[in-house]
Amino acid sequence: MILVMDSHSGEEELNKISNKLKSMDFELEISKGKEKIIIGIIGDTRKLLDFPFYSYSGVIDVLKVLKPYKLASREFREKSTIVKIGNTLIGEHELTFMAGPCSVENEEQMYEAAAGLSKMGVKILRGGAFKPRTSPYSFQGLGKKGLEMMSDAAKKHNLLVITEVMSIEQIDIITPYADILQVGARNMQNFMLLKELGKIKKPVMLKRGMSSTIEELLLSAEYILSGGNKKVILCERGIRTFETYTRNTLDLSAVPAIKELSHLPVIVDPSHGTGRREMINSMSKAAIACGADGLMIEVHPHREMALSDGSQSLDFEAFRSLLIDLKRVADSVDRTVNYNYISFL
Ligand code: PEP
Ligand code: MN
Repeated sequence: MILVMDSHSGEEELNKISNKLKSMDFELEISKGKEKIIIGIIGDTRKLLDFPFYSYSGVIDVLKVLKPYKLASREFREKSTIVKIGNTLIGEHELTFMAGPCSVENEEQMYEAAAGLSKMGVKILRGGAFKPRTSPYSFQGLGKKGLEMMSDAAKKHNLLVITEVMSIEQIDIITPYADILQVGARNMQNFMLLKELGKIKKPVMLKRGMSSTIEELLLSAEYILSGGNKKVILCERGIRTFETYTRNTLDLSAVPAIKELSHLPVIVDPSHGTGRREMINSMSKAAIACGADGLMIEVHPHREMALSDGSQSLDFEAFRSLLIDLKRVADSVDRTVNYNYISFL
């Protein structure tokens, strides 16, 4: 961290602030110029995030060098994190696909989804049992019954389950049924929930809030990591901008940015990111091309009957052709697609 002071502010002010910083175990490198005094503060300057620098007279500027998050940063861990669930690796060479309906609706739907998707080589089944709906009158999800349906269908086809947790009370209900707990965009800054998820052993996929910066996303990840849970996956799912043609604006530039700033795996969700079925294919290809470790895609066996997000859901055929297209993009960025996709062709 670099502190800039006015040279005219006098020795007394300089001593006051430097003594305070030294008493906090920081080393200082002071260089005095005609107009300005530059002070390099050496040590873990994250401790100084809330330090009242500007209450000292003569302080002109404070420049942060270290990121405000630590455990999530690539400075802390250079090697990319691979989240391991059994023999499924997220963040590895092979791309990860999480697919399934927006909501768990009934047994047949989940069995059909699990059968069709596993046949194509998908390893992770998605589906919401507790749904964060904008309107209280919209379908709210089947709750525990939905979790049972999804977990039964997944087991039958040897799939892993990812599902959303909306509150602290739901953690214990969901954990026995889920392999990955998803924190939705609306809960990205539910810090009490994040703290509790830091205590569990299962992986957590944290979706970017619709009005959150990349730094805020990484700070939310830090809550989970600092609680002791190192299995955090990040998800770019679009942010809200002035554009209304798409449901959200899928910020793909966040992918290379996060990859540079953090070692955590990044999944892209083009379904919520665009809200438009016809754009899923292009945006998925773009996501893989720019470095995403995988995709979360809404796929419904009968999308016209979907109780939520039917207009952005793919059917099996569209998902199948997406996988075929993605194989070529994956090759070009030196990633691989599960063999089953190819044998399915
Ligand atoms: C979801 O994945 O079901 C969902 C609600 O997504 P988001 O939190 O990104 O809106
Ligand atoms: Mn949805």
